[in-house]
Amino acid sequence: MSKKYCYLFTEGNAGMRELLGGKGANLAEMTNIGLPVPQGFTITTEACTQYYEDDQKINDGIMAEIMEYIEKMEQITGKKFGDLENPLLVSVRSGARASMPGMMDTILNLGLNETVVEVLARKSGNPRWAYDCYRRFIQMYSDVVMEVGKKYFEQLIDRMKAQKGVTLDVDLTAEDLKTLAGQFKDEYQSKIGQAFPSDPKEQLMGAIKAVFRSWDNPRANVYRRDNDIPYSWGTAVNVQSMAFGNMGEDCGTGVAFTRNPATGEKKLFGEFLTNAQGEDVVAGVRTPMPISQMAEKFPEAFAQFQKVCAILEDHYRDMQDMEFTVENGKLYMLQTRNGKRTPASALKIACDLVDEGQISEEKAVSMIEPRSLDTLLHPQFDGKVLKATPVIGSALAASPGAACGKIVFTAEDAKAWAERGEKVVLVRLETSPEDIEGMKAAQGILTVRGGMTSHAAVVARGMGKCCVSGCAAIKMDEEGKCFELSGKTFREGDWLSLDGSTGKIYDGAIPTVDAVIGGEFGRVMGWCDKYRRLQVRTNADTPYDAAQARTFGAQGIGLCRTEHMFFNEDRIPAIREMICSETVEQREKALAKLEPMQRGDFEGIYEAMEGCPVTIRFLDPPLHEFLPTDEADIALLAKDLGKTVADIKNIIASLHEFNPMMGHRGCRLAVTYPEIAAMQTRAVIKAALNVQARHPDWNMVPEIMIPLVGEVKELRYVKGVVVKTADEIIAAAGSSMKYLVGTMIEIPRAALTADEIAKEADFFSFGTNDLTQMTFGFSRDDAGKFLGAYYDKKIYENDPFAKLDQTGVGRLVDMACKLGRSTNSTLHLGICGEHGGDPASVEFCHRTGLDYVSCSPFRVPIARLAAAQAAIKCNNEAAAQK
Ligand code: ADP
Ligand code: MG
Ligand code: MG
Repeated sequence: MSKKYCYLFTEGNAGMRELLGGKGANLAEMTNIGLPVPQGFTITTEACTQYYEDDQKINDGIMAEIMEYIEKMEQITGKKFGDLENPLLVSVRSGARASMPGMMDTILNLGLNETVVEVLARKSGNPRWAYDCYRRFIQMYSDVVMEVGKKYFEQLIDRMKAQKGVTLDVDLTAEDLKTLAGQFKDEYQSKIGQAFPSDPKEQLMGAIKAVFRSWDNPRANVYRRDNDIPYSWGTAVNVQSMAFGNMGEDCGTGVAFTRNPATGEKKLFGEFLTNAQGEDVVAGVRTPMPISQMAEKFPEAFAQFQKVCAILEDHYRDMQDMEFTVENGKLYMLQTRNGKRTPASALKIACDLVDEGQISEEKAVSMIEPRSLDTLLHPQFDGKVLKATPVIGSALAASPGAACGKIVFTAEDAKAWAERGEKVVLVRLETSPEDIEGMKAAQGILTVRGGMTSHAAVVARGMGKCCVSGCAAIKMDEEGKCFELSGKTFREGDWLSLDGSTGKIYDGAIPTVDAVIGGEFGRVMGWCDKYRRLQVRTNADTPYDAAQARTFGAQGIGLCRTEHMFFNEDRIPAIREMICSETVEQREKALAKLEPMQRGDFEGIYEAMEGCPVTIRFLDPPLHEFLPTDEADIALLAKDLGKTVADIKNIIASLHEFNPMMGHRGCRLAVTYPEIAAMQTRAVIKAALNVQARHPDWNMVPEIMIPLVGEVKELRYVKGVVVKTADEIIAAAGSSMKYLVGTMIEIPRAALTADEIAKEADFFSFGTNDLTQMTFGFSRDDAGKFLGAYYDKKIYENDPFAKLDQTGVGRLVDMACKLGRSTNSTLHLGICGEHGGDPASVEFCHRTGLDYVSCSPFRVPIARLAAAQAAIKCNNEAAAQK
């Protein structure tokens, strides 16, 4: 049988998300459980993929199936497309598998034309409504299908309002709206060079294509990249008969959450507008009323709505985000989904649902987006300074967190300023999907218009970014890049602080304080630790970072980079002396100066880690990185070392490399200068012995990691130096302390010969930054120049330095694990690249059978959660197999 591309809402269910998209699957599910849903059908995500395979065309087969389903829909609703008695009007809505708010475009009231609108006006006795629908349709269709741009239409509306001396859309009369519709069509004709389509079927096909096309718009591509949504998924299209919230005062439309998405409180939360349609509530043009007032306006519909909320929560066992419309007092459900929420409310809701007996701990752990934890770990305003700082304004606490930065007025500026390292706060009249990248770059967002469900609020909560919205007291001059608030003028570049948890706005910069893991956060982390198999370590080079990571639950250090210690101002002379030495004796003398400093550093780190394992990597970067570049420094160094400036310049020239990244670095340094490895070994072992003596109850087992090995013999050689040095010191101390020597796997040749290398190594740590670099053959520092073009051409969907390339680099990792364990069954395996804190990569590490991941301190809780989710997911998969 050939593929089925269309499903009536009565044919689908919530389990068909991949095929029907989230919106379509849930419309079907709500239909199944008997909720009032305007009926329609869903065109599958496979039709979208097929559309792209067919060179952006809807093929004849799919076209015919759509027409067949339109007829079915006509039978179900008793209305007909383009009919002069009982015309069918539909919405055309996109819906991908994962919800992508504001990413795709929706068209309402499709099916209207000059004659149909007359019929509606006459039959309903409500010409205002008919023309309101008509002008909205032309506006949305033009914007979405032909990409004409909203602003031309908004200008026409503003002009009409000015002429009529009114401020709100609802004050425009039927005649006004009819005139507007005419103007809109003229605008369309003049921009497109064709008349506005009057045939409903032609309109429908145009709209469907537009939804398919919107899957590939730049905003959608950015959102997908940020949220790990593959391009190959495609979007479904929902064709649904209209429910009208704009027929008069006994109509309206709203958005609501079954629990508070900002705090998690178990209480209906939402907003409502009478005599309105579609996105009026979220667009922030009119300020909506809180959902509680709906009880007074529409007691019956409200009572029914409360029942629906309870049914939906019980059914989905999660907080629901719903869209609904009331048409002449009757409730229609238009959408439900698991609601986006702030990280703090996600934790509260997960704990509450467990306590309410709705879900298991495993389910609670799986419900939390690992990356969202990030904001909870970042600083909050310093309470004392906050109290002492005057509040200059207050608006809706749309998304919590503290933000402090310089004011910018456009998304482009936000991006540009942030790129050059400035902290910015984005201040806008209201935000739109085009602003996403700017919102991402900003510390926080402040808008003049819009409610708790405005675009800015929803997107900011999704990003875990601070947002204060709807500050009507601001007198905004977007073009002039300034605004007035509390009698003061604020210009671009002025400092502003926002508190997204209280909605307060402060003049100037307020310092911030660190976060702690407690309460619900601590409880969920406890569950994570119960269910995960992977250990989580951290990458830390200082006692400060190490201590930070410990408070976030790190179980050890997976990567301590020793070179960072050499860059210190008081140490650089000694390291320079070492580099400029001409004999082994000179070099050893310089190294002797460095040894106590290194030993002290290591002791500090061991103390901070309280006896947990610490992997110390030996010197890695090319030596020239330590040498001075400017004349004055060179002269100073010459003087210090009793050499001439020319001598020093000669040494610098001799260290020059054409490709330092692939040059004299890593274990190659220890091969040429074994005394460096010997000194570092002494520092590590002596530090461990000292700390062991101070803490007899700790079991110190230092781990020494030799970087950049590609050949077993070079590891064997360096290891020889380490073992000889270490054994002597340990014996001399009369101790029986154990230590481990391992290597980083970061050169493809090491992965390919891992069985050989494992014979000499106690552990492997995958250095996936270098491994990615060397496998792809391009550097992390230069990839930015061309990755953009690779994204555009869909060659890569992600930055392989941020998200592990499982196909290529991952294969090397997997191979190295298997080869390594085949010759060394006790080989300990970990990863210490940036990928160690990326949730998708953590899952890969779990599946590959690594023992631990290591990531930066602030990612430790994210990795703990991701590791638990991976374990739970794999268990569920295994259970499903049986
Ligand atoms: P988004 O994913 O951006 O929310 P939607 O497809 O949900 O887009 O629709 C945009 C707006 O139009 C929403 O407010 C929705 O409730 C409204 N809407 C969609 N379909 C209908 C319909 N059949 N009748 C009335 N309103 C609708
Ligand atoms: Mg939308
Ligand atoms: Mg919606």
